Amino acid sequence: MRASINIIFLGAPGAGKGTQAQLIEKNWDSKPLATGEMLRRISSNMTSDDPLPAKLRQIMAEGQLIPDDTMIELLQQEIGREKYKNGFILDGFPRTEPQAIALEEMLAKNDLRIDAVIMLTAEEKALCERILGRVFCSECGANFHTSLNPPKQEGLCDACNTKLERRKDDNLETLRKRLDVFHAQTEPILPYYKEKGLLTTIDGMREIAQIAEDIQNTLASIRK
Ligand code: AMP
Repeated sequence: MRASINIIFLGAPGAGKGTQAQLIEKNWDSKPLATGEMLRRISSNMTSDDPLPAKLRQIMAEGQLIPDDTMIELLQQEIGREKYKNGFILDGFPRTEPQAIALEEMLAKNDLRIDAVIMLTAEEKALCERILGRVFCSECGANFHTSLNPPKQEGLCDACNTKLERRKDDNLETLRKRLDVFHAQTEPILPYYKEKGLLTTIDGMREIAQIAEDIQNTLASIRK
């Protein structure tokens, strides 16, 4: 029987948060909520008079964080959607302590709470290799890697034959910035969750299936 659970994935860019969120989804009723994807969707609006999409594009291209007040407002709108009524698997939020506190407050208002925080670790060299080879299909969302998980036909999606794309911020210069931002602003929230007894750290350098099994065991033990 599947059940709902509210999870947060933490980890540097390339640690495997998105990959694991999609795998975990199969065993639970909870749905993945990736804030980077949500922001790319909002920022792809090129025609609106609203200055927000252009502002988001600029900040993301620089590898910086969207200001907390904007981010918290956007997350609050998103998490209230029907889709997440049976739980969520957060990938990319919170990234700062004010975001962590705001999340807790918004959940408490609805009698909800975080059940587990999973921190995925990986060596910097592996993070760079994963990010710099990452390609995706904008049509169906499938992810590939040019050498670690190549599509059958170079540059084309296995599922729908669409031309694969790279994220604009998946270049070495922006990645360095994103890693600095992770160490400076996101890592400091680990003690916040550790003190609450919610944090489990998992070695993200192993096989994807092995990591998924560890995560599943952790979550299952929480739900016992
Ligand atoms: P991601 O897809 O998680 O790597 O996020 C891509 C970019 O979106 C980040 O480099 C940030 O610019 C922005 N972003 C995503 N989530 C957040 C967040 N919680 N707070 C601030 N900025 C965010």
